[in-house]
Amino acid sequence: MKHAVQYLLGLDIQELTKLVENYGQKPYRAKQLYDGIYKQRITSLDQLTVFPKDLREKMQTDGIAITGARVDQRFVSRDGTIRYLIGFSDGQSVETVWMPDGDDGEAGDGTEAGEEETAPTRFRRATICVSSQVGCAVNCKFCMTALLGLKRNLTPGEIVGQITAVLNDHQVDMAKERVNIVFMGQGEPFNNYDNFIKSVRLLVRGVRIGESRMTVSTSGIVPRIADLGQEEIRPKLAISLNASNDAKRTNLIPINKKWDINALIEAAKAFPLRRRENITFEYVLLEGENDSPENAQEVVGIVKSMGKPPDRVKLNLIAWNSGPEIPFHTPSDSRVHEFQNAIRAAGIPAYIRRPRGRDIYAACGQLKKIVTIESAVV
Ligand code: SF4
Repeated sequence: MKHAVQYLLGLDIQELTKLVENYGQKPYRAKQLYDGIYKQRITSLDQLTVFPKDLREKMQTDGIAITGARVDQRFVSRDGTIRYLIGFSDGQSVETVWMPDGDDGEAGDGTEAGEEETAPTRFRRATICVSSQVGCAVNCKFCMTALLGLKRNLTPGEIVGQITAVLNDHQVDMAKERVNIVFMGQGEPFNNYDNFIKSVRLLVRGVRIGESRMTVSTSGIVPRIADLGQEEIRPKLAISLNASNDAKRTNLIPINKKWDINALIEAAKAFPLRRRENITFEYVLLEGENDSPENAQEVVGIVKSMGKPPDRVKLNLIAWNSGPEIPFHTPSDSRVHEFQNAIRAAGIPAYIRRPRGRDIYAACGQLKKIVTIESAVV
């Protein structure tokens, strides 16, 4: 009889312990399995040579495999960014982006302002942008993922599997090299909260990526901001503000009707910050829509209403990345810098995130399974 495939990636140590016990094995086998899956990032049970061959074969016969996430395609940008199309066993796929040099967004890529660059050499501060859902239901008007609608949530194994696939592609040694994770790909992570937070625990405890190297961005699912604040292990928080008043924000992000800017700011104020941690507001600049000097002053008012010291809140500015079917325009560089200067003049740290991989539709808001572009497919 053929068994349904069971993937081990995504299971925690307790679940793996139960599994090995079903094979009459002692708990130390679960630890071997856990280290193999997450620390060594094996992709096949054949690589788990600490297990007896007959045990591995029995598990394989029972339909057990390590991961269902596979790299279907890679698009390589002129700037070194790589957009991966990662496919799953049910035929769905998402996009995951590798940025070898981050995007200068300070906390946007998990790196603190002023932090020493201690990482060696092959990449300066590599960042992986990971998806949490296939498509998205939030329907932000400037985002290409929104055009897909929500297809389904990703499992913890599918979230972790994107990251291990990319780490393996670059043969990253987690003991020596530093990688940041941003949950800013397809999907609203807080609409898939349990799977998202389980993947974070597995990444921290298993893959060994520090939680301070991870940032999750939300469009403003207020109750989950409070939940995240209660987690023992969690990424840093970024909030997609994207508008300077409720009328404009509701227009751009319809959930603002349910949780308005005031509710968002109250949740952000109550969010417990750790030592050296800050909250980031993301602000996508759309020409003629939210990028005027008046908009900048409204943003200053919003950020100041947090009542936090200036080193605890910052703004990442993103000049909108164009995409087909979206009726907005990218503001000029000078307009973006004027906006930044107005925010900085009020004493609020503001950084401009460099667009990465625009030519391969890998940049912010561009993720929507575009496979027909003329770029290098490796
Ligand atoms: S910007 Fe994020 S939350 Fe909004 S539709 Fe796109 S993927 Fe969803």
